[in-house]
Amino acid sequence: MAGLQIKQLAKSYGAMNILHGIDLEVRDGEFLVLIGPSGCGKSTLLRMIAGLEDISSGELWIGDRLSNGLPPQQRNISMVFQSYALFPHMSVRKNIGFGPKIRRESAAAIDAKVGKAAETLNLHDYLDRVPRQLSGGQRQRVAMGRTIVREPDLFLFDEPLSNLDAKLRVQMRTELKALHQQLKTTMVYVTHDQIEAMTMADRIVVMNAGRIEQAGSPLELYDKPVNKFVAGFLGSPAMTFIPGTLERGDGAPKVRTDNGTIIPVGDTTAASGQPVEIGIRPEHYRLAPDGNGFAYHVEVIEPTGSETHLFGTISGVAVRCVFRDRLAPEPGTQLSLTVDPAKVHVFDAKTGNRI
Ligand code: ADP
Ligand code: MG
Repeated sequence: MAGLQIKQLAKSYGAMNILHGIDLEVRDGEFLVLIGPSGCGKSTLLRMIAGLEDISSGELWIGDRLSNGLPPQQRNISMVFQSYALFPHMSVRKNIGFGPKIRRESAAAIDAKVGKAAETLNLHDYLDRVPRQLSGGQRQRVAMGRTIVREPDLFLFDEPLSNLDAKLRVQMRTELKALHQQLKTTMVYVTHDQIEAMTMADRIVVMNAGRIEQAGSPLELYDKPVNKFVAGFLGSPAMTFIPGTLERGDGAPKVRTDNGTIIPVGDTTAASGQPVEIGIRPEHYRLAPDGNGFAYHVEVIEPTGSETHLFGTISGVAVRCVFRDRLAPEPGTQLSLTVDPAKVHVFDAKTGNRI
């Protein structure tokens, strides 16, 4: 097993800078998820760790070994991609045992490794099938099996589930997490799916345009995003932002929106009179029991069975609210809402940073 130390790692193609000095530690045994929008440099970073891409500057330590120039095959890293190229004419058994076979391991050793991988991945009943006789999820498990038998120090995953349908993705994400709990091998997992990141990660690293925006546990990032980018990227439905001005007066801080709506906020370093944007997660709205909250103009009601999703506006800004209760307001009516001030995030209107 091995952790990673990444120091000021940079990548450029000619004059194009793709990664701008990434500092990151991956602890031994950790499940770390890299998330960010398409093109932000996730795959590039992963490929640099694997040794498939040159490092322009900075340091990559795998375990206690400075590994910048180390050939990929000497890194003891396994990488799983989005498209898993299985050998179509070979049985599952042969697909999984392919690596050990070309390394000329003994038949007994190969059998033992394949057996163990099949047990870990629940593939016992399929060992004699060929890939076309398997479902998408089973094929993905065979691809995993091929990497497990290598007993790597580190697994790298590049959006391995994005070709699967929604239901299978949910199932595979649970299986992968269980696999990590069982193997306890360090895993770095790239995705652009925030639910995958939230549910699987020990720690999430949010990337944007070749930089790390924030790293922390899923709930740390969800509860205390350092800026609007992280706040808007994690959470579904996403947080909405309402512009306004901070007012302190003599009581607790509050925000006055453009149309004069008053929303109390929690601790903030914002100065009185400072332009801010407040961010509120859809599930944090409550009906004001006495009707003296702020006005929410309801436009569309979507019952999902377990929740009620409302679309409407606060101070002219489009806001989606999610309630656990079965509400049935008429479209075009107004609700009075409140939010626990501690759950209102305050961001600097200029920089987008949490203040
Ligand atoms: P992600 O995986 O986050 O979607 P990538 O790491 O694949 O992003 O790409 C990051 C950026 O690097 C993109 O703007 C992409 O166009 C650019 N890029 C990737 N590979 C090359 C290359 N071989 N030459 C030039 N630019 C590249
Ligand atoms: Mg990518």
